[in-house]
Amino acid sequence: MLKKAIIAAAIATSLASSTVAAQEDTATVEIVTLGTGGGPTLRANRSQAASLVRVGEAYYLMDAGIGTSRQMTLAGVQAQMLNAVFITHNHADHSQDLVNIVGARLLARMGEARREEPLAIYGPPGIRAMVDEAVAYALAGPLENFQLFTGEIPDPAGTFEVYEISTDGVILDTDGLTVEAIENSHYQLLPANQRETQKSYSYRLQTDAGVIVFTGDTGPDGAWTEILRNADVVVAESSNVEAIRAMMARAASVSADVDPVIANANQARLELLINHSTRQHIPADQLGELAQGMGVRALILNHFGPETDIVGTDQNVAQVRRAYLGQIEVSEDLAQYCLRRSPTEGISTLTTCPSSAGSDDRGNQ
Ligand SMILES: [Zn+2]
Repeated sequence: MLKKAIIAAAIATSLASSTVAAQEDTATVEIVTLGTGGGPTLRANRSQAASLVRVGEAYYLMDAGIGTSRQMTLAGVQAQMLNAVFITHNHADHSQDLVNIVGARLLARMGEARREEPLAIYGPPGIRAMVDEAVAYALAGPLENFQLFTGEIPDPAGTFEVYEISTDGVILDTDGLTVEAIENSHYQLLPANQRETQKSYSYRLQTDAGVIVFTGDTGPDGAWTEILRNADVVVAESSNVEAIRAMMARAASVSADVDPVIANANQARLELLINHSTRQHIPADQLGELAQGMGVRALILNHFGPETDIVGTDQNVAQVRRAYLGQIEVSEDLAQYCLRRSPTEGISTLTTCPSSAGSDDRGNQ
């Protein structure tokens, strides 16, 4: 626990000091992998999907899986410091902590440390209802608590600006940052009528330091892959399908000895899960092929599944490496990466920042 506290303090200091450095070097963007685990189960070693991107003085949150607000606190970033939140899709491991961020932002809207600008929230259809419900829940209890801490009773008007994305394209164009959303193939096995309302997006961020893509959860095929082209960094999920297949096959074979009905059910479930893992998530070897074909300069692997708790992440790296020749980083929770563009050569370089919790000898594999 003490080690974790020291790491957290170091990161908070590092973020604060690097903010000062950013004033001198505007072509540096920081990426903090707050949570690096895939869902749906909660795990001790990896919080669920979330990353921070700092562009100058502005903070952007990419996804908000369960545990995100705690991870933000460990990184020294409060809800009132956020400029915008981008949610890739409405699965709990990417969106559920938005409820807590909304509550914290509402509180931060009042009192001494108030933030006047609204928090922009971008995401698929359904996000507006989630924000509205979170606000309603926060205001449902006795409001004296708000008054106690802030001296005010909250009026949520003007606190949030919610943008539900229904078509591909540029969704934000502001100082030093352009964000483009494109629907990906995470929901491609859903019936057509459900796909009209269930949307999953990947995001491409154009910054002065380079291009950063967040894949979110997605299958390997579809028109979305075009946004990977010549990206400087891609924060990408990678499934170790071989490990998932082995684990599920073992589980199925144990039941077969006891009950053939259960065994059949397990077999059907195994096929569904493999189909899901290969067509609605990216197998690591296919991620490597995609990244190599699209000229991606660096990959930050995240969204590791429970299978990596057993077999580790080296297999993911080896599977990506079958085709991909660029830089590979294996993210850990609260790892901090710096993307810099050389003003003379115009080339972007990704490194782990000093004091990063995730910087270890597994970087640059
Ligand atoms: Zn996920």
